[in-house]
Amino acid sequence: MYEVYALKYGERDTTACQFFYREPSHEPITLHFYVWLILGGSHPVLVDAGCREADAAQRGIRHYVNPATMVQRVGVRPADIPTVLISHLHWDHWAGHSLFPSAEFWIQRDEVEFWTGPVARFELYRQLANATALGELVTLNYGGRIRLVEGERQVLPGLRVHWVGGHTAGLQIVSVETGRGRVVLTSDASHFFRNVERRWPTQIITNLPQMLAAFDTIDALAGPERLVVAGHDPEVADRFKPTEPGIIRIA
Ligand SMILES: [Zn+2]
Repeated sequence: MYEVYALKYGERDTTACQFFYREPSHEPITLHFYVWLILGGSHPVLVDAGCREADAAQRGIRHYVNPATMVQRVGVRPADIPTVLISHLHWDHWAGHSLFPSAEFWIQRDEVEFWTGPVARFELYRQLANATALGELVTLNYGGRIRLVEGERQVLPGLRVHWVGGHTAGLQIVSVETGRGRVVLTSDASHFFRNVERRWPTQIITNLPQMLAAFDTIDALAGPERLVVAGHDPEVADRFKPTEPGIIRIA
């Protein structure tokens, strides 16, 4: 059985109308930025790589802590992580890849095709990525460190990735069997709990019907225990168990 931790590496303020799809309210909201660590299998598995200090400074992230430092605080050396599951290639999930120097990165093929394809150059999408970090995909691939996956795949027994798309072309979510039930790490398929719980999309999308269908996929995977972990919601710390500042034990 696995243990799952949400590790917070920064935060940023915005407003509801800037974030949720056609939302009229100017209510201030705060995004928390996380990576997620899965222990208890044959080796540790990380979900997402976060970003580096330069990205954090450039994007106005407050209280930035290097995601590798957060991983160390749970007792895992970043160089000892052989597998990092990348939910998608936005800067806050991919730009920190070099913090995990031994890892193979699992990414959906649709995601790589989108960011190397004809639409990514438009400012609307380009601004969401770190172009240098995207370029490094090629070098990492030639070094045997990129595993392109399609659809649903087992990572380890009881630990799977599932393509959902919607927010990005190849967004994938993660399901993990734990002693408390099956945990679903939604990443940006549901930035906040209100996305999946009210079927309310965010504004950042490549395909709106896919984003709506992803909410159904999250619910179908979650089962009766409802161990759903939203991707950027400060409420993760209220719904699950913080063990020390920035470290939240999910299961
Ligand atoms: Zn994100």
